[in-house]
Amino acid sequence: MAAPQYRILCLLRDEGPLSRAEIADRLELPRPRVLAELERLVTGQRVREAGPAASRGGRRSTLVELHPDIRFAGVDLGATSIDVEITDAYLEPVASYSEPADIRRGPKATLHRVDEILAKLHTDGAYGRLSGLGIGVPGPVSFRDGVPVSPPIMPGWDRYPVRELLSREHNCPVVVDNDVNIMAVGERFGGVARATDNLLFVKIGTGIGCGIYLNGAPYRGPDGCAGDIGHVQADPNGPVCSCGNVGCLEALFGGAALARDALVAARSGVSPALAERFAVTNAVTAKDVADGAAEGDVSCIRLIRDGGRRVGSVLAGLVSFINPSMIVIGGGLAGLGHILLAEIRSVVYRRSLPLATGNLPVVLSELGPRAGVVGAAVLASEVAYDEPS
Ligand SMILES: [Zn+2]
Repeated sequence: MAAPQYRILCLLRDEGPLSRAEIADRLELPRPRVLAELERLVTGQRVREAGPAASRGGRRSTLVELHPDIRFAGVDLGATSIDVEITDAYLEPVASYSEPADIRRGPKATLHRVDEILAKLHTDGAYGRLSGLGIGVPGPVSFRDGVPVSPPIMPGWDRYPVRELLSREHNCPVVVDNDVNIMAVGERFGGVARATDNLLFVKIGTGIGCGIYLNGAPYRGPDGCAGDIGHVQADPNGPVCSCGNVGCLEALFGGAALARDALVAARSGVSPALAERFAVTNAVTAKDVADGAAEGDVSCIRLIRDGGRRVGSVLAGLVSFINPSMIVIGGGLAGLGHILLAEIRSVVYRRSLPLATGNLPVVLSELGPRAGVVGAAVLASEVAYDEPS
C-alpha cells in the first residue's frame, strides 16, 4: 500500500477539495493520522485550507485543497515534434507549446530545446518552480533507470541520462517513459478510458505501438519493450522493415508505409485524388489519403481499409491474449477516422473469441494530440506526490 501522504495528494488531485473527514473516510485511514499528515502537507506548502465545506449537520468542516502554486510539466517528444504542457496540481492545463522537431538531432540539442521552451513558459508566468516533470520519448525506456534503451529511431539516445539531466536542470523529480505509454496514461486519466483498468492504447503514427494497462497499472515489461506491436509480423511476404525483419505491421501500415503506398497510387494514376494532389505539391501525405477518402476516392479508401485490417488482425490476437476491456486508437493516423476505426473493429470482432469481445469498445482517443502531455503530467504528479514532505 502506498504511503498515506501520496494517497491523500492523489485523492485531492482526482476529486478536488475535500474535508478532512471525507479524506479519512475515502482512504479508510484513522482521523488522527490524516490530521497529522495534512499538517505536514500544509507546512510543506502542498495543501492549504480552502474555506468551509457544505454542512453535513453539526459543526461545519473546512475543505482542504492542493496548493495553487504547484505546477507540473508534461513533455511529449515524438519523432517529429515537441509538445509541452504546464499543469496545475489537479493537472488542469495552465499553458502549452508545440513545435516540429527531429528526434534524430540527438539528445543534447533536443533536451536543450526542451529547456528553452520551459524557460520561456517560466518567463511568461506559467510557473514559478516545477514540482515534477514527466517526459515521453519515441522508443523503449528503462523506466527504473530513466534512460532510453536501444531506441531504433533515436540515434545517440541509448542510455542517455535523460532523467538525471532534466532533474538537475529543473530541480524536481523527473519520470521518463515511452511515448505510447504516456498516451495510455493520459487517456486513462482524462480521456475516453477514464477508470478503465485493463486497456490497450494503440498509437498509429509514423510507426505503430501499444500502451498497456493491466489491473489498473501500466505494464511496461522488464526491458520497457512491452507493446511494441509495430514489429509483430503481419505478412510473411511483406516488405522489409526498418528493423531488418520482414513483414512487420509497421512496414505495412503507419504514416511512413502509407506515404509510400500513396506515392505509388499517385504516380500510377490508380488514385485520381492522389494524382491530382501529387501534380500540385510533388508529394503525398497521410492527410491527402484521408482527404481523398472523404471525397470518395476508391483507392484512398482501400489503402485505409487494408491498413485497418492489418492492425485489426494483430489486435485480435492481443484481445484473445489479455482480454482488455477497452481498445483506444490514437496517434496522427487516428485522423483517418471512421473508415479506419470501422475496419479495425470489424476484424477484431470477427477474429477474437466471442467472450473477450462481448462488451469490448474499440474507440478513438478523446484527448487526441494532448494524450501524451497529459499522461506525462500524470506521471510527474505521481513521482512528485510520492516525495516525502
Ligand atoms: Zn520491424
